[in-house]
Amino acid sequence: MSASAEPSIFSRIVAREIPATILAETERVIAIADIAPKAPVHILVVPKTEQYANVTELAAGDPGLLAEVVAVSNQLAAEHSDGDFRLIFNSGPGAGQTVFHVHAHVLAWPGG
Ligand code: 5GP
Repeated sequence: MSASAEPSIFSRIVAREIPATILAETERVIAIADIAPKAPVHILVVPKTEQYANVTELAAGDPGLLAEVVAVSNQLAAEHSDGDFRLIFNSGPGAGQTVFHVHAHVLAWPGG
């Protein structure tokens, strides 16, 4: 859990406490449709642990888990689009991060 006492919104989705469209799940990662999509395909790929607030912490603390996030993102882009995708990690409020439980945004535009 993060520094705050409350579980993050993504931890609550992992626990099935709030609904989400789950597109993929492994032992350590869950992928959900973003509730407010910014592209025709907008998927969030989220480590189940909320131990890491951002991608820098994740890369330092568990590079294998970061690699799994990237691999799942790649697989979802192939399934939901033509395989090309934009992978975004907002890091810090000034960059637009609103949920401090690390997550990748997979954005794709089927058909270009
Ligand atoms: P950030 O701004 O932290 O990079 O990204 C947070 C993302 O989570 C946003 O794109 C926002 O639309 C999405 N989001 C916030 N709350 C929920 C929710 O309850 N369910 C889902 N599926 N996405 C959410």
